[in-house]
Amino acid sequence: MKYFTPEEFKMDNQVVYSKMQPEFLALLDQCRQDAGIPFKITSSWRSPAKNRLVGGSPGSLHLKGRAVDLICTLGESRAKIMLAALNLGLSVGVMRDGLHLDNRENQIVFHYYDRYRVARSENE
Ligand SMILES: [Zn+2]
Repeated sequence: MKYFTPEEFKMDNQVVYSKMQPEFLALLDQCRQDAGIPFKITSSWRSPAKNRLVGGSPGSLHLKGRAVDLICTLGESRAKIMLAALNLGLSVGVMRDGLHLDNRENQIVFHYYDRYRVARSENE
């Protein structure tokens, strides 16, 4: 990879780079290049036990090495990363302080909360 070292893909202290799907890693590298800003990976491949521990969905693509989570707090950075990711066909999950990227088959944008809703009148 051009922008990442294997040590950036960890589960706790274990390097899990070899568990990552090569196709996803290539897209992640391209995404990093297109976004033009550093990516700080906080989660990549997860074991089933670890996935349960952190409350990941049972079908999470982290289990298949096809997802990462990144720290991202600034709206400007979020825009750059999301734009690059979406243009490459990656799916994006938006967290309070970060982004999830994966290469599922049908591209989506999702969030992790159900608290704020567009008022009915604005939605019609
Ligand atoms: Zn994730």
